[in-house]
Amino acid sequence: MKIRTNNIGGFFIFLLTLALLVFGIIVMNYLCILYWFEEPAVEKRMVSVIPTTNIGTVIFILFNFLGYLSTVSHLRASLTDPGIITPDILPPSDFPKEDIKPCKKCNLKWKPMRAHHCSECNVCIFKMDHHCPWINSCVGIKNTKYFFLFTLYTGLGALFAIALLITGFILLLQDTTDTHYSKSGYPVAFFLCVCVLIESILFSFFTLELVGEQIESFQDNQTYIDDLKDLIGVPLTLGEAFKEWIGEDWTFWWLPTQPVLKLNYCSRLYKMQEIISRKYQEYEKLEYDTTGKYKAIALQEAKQDRLKFFGFTVAMVVTLYFIVVMF
Ligand SMILES: [Zn+2]
Ligand SMILES: [Zn+2]
Repeated sequence: MKIRTNNIGGFFIFLLTLALLVFGIIVMNYLCILYWFEEPAVEKRMVSVIPTTNIGTVIFILFNFLGYLSTVSHLRASLTDPGIITPDILPPSDFPKEDIKPCKKCNLKWKPMRAHHCSECNVCIFKMDHHCPWINSCVGIKNTKYFFLFTLYTGLGALFAIALLITGFILLLQDTTDTHYSKSGYPVAFFLCVCVLIESILFSFFTLELVGEQIESFQDNQTYIDDLKDLIGVPLTLGEAFKEWIGEDWTFWWLPTQPVLKLNYCSRLYKMQEIISRKYQEYEKLEYDTTGKYKAIALQEAKQDRLKFFGFTVAMVVTLYFIVVMF
């Protein structure tokens, strides 16, 4: 199923976000970390192929790990089905007939109450939060984890970059012997580092604010669209909220792997008054996955996805190793 829009502008913003991430990572490696923490003597290095001092090697590995997680999360948030309601998702037999509402825009027979129609993607998406230009797709229940990790790791990576760049600028100010200023590419390198500093300040503001907003919306069990409609899901504790939105496999919350989600298409939205009067309790007994069939599939898929993710990560590290050794 096609999930991305034909929106050229959206695709451009998605590519620009990805390009800015990669640009920031490359500049930070070559012009900051490998420059300020350089160790020419192979025998003094922690890892022989990483030409840095011991502290530099730790910084190099940590920064690139954050960059890798951020980039993979961005790509997966964009390329993963955000939770499209397909025609085969039908109400269970005990579902109240009067509550079965169709979607006239995409001709769905049953549009679950917690699904919203996205006019950009022209599909109904379960627990849709918003249509996001950064990923050129919707943020819905199935890619919320990737989007959350993208904002989290980009924010942390940006803060890390700001600290490293400021350290670099201080070291530069202390350069009284012109060792750095006299180097041939100095003006260009300095300009690129200033660009990445501005980029990191902007990124850290946007993403870390979003991290806070997302945690709040998980706990309120309420998407951005629900909030606009003044509706809310059943109240959850923080732990339950993360399981509901990021997956039940909590040991993998921090990695951009496929989450184990319990999707109850029968769940509803309520007015605040209905929550206070506990009216929601009589409705929330309705289950979509009564036999546990979908849960079993979700567990199996998540297991396979983790293996693929680890395989891909190892392949990336080995490839990089050989590139460094050969060149
Ligand atoms: Zn629809
Ligand atoms: Zn959309």
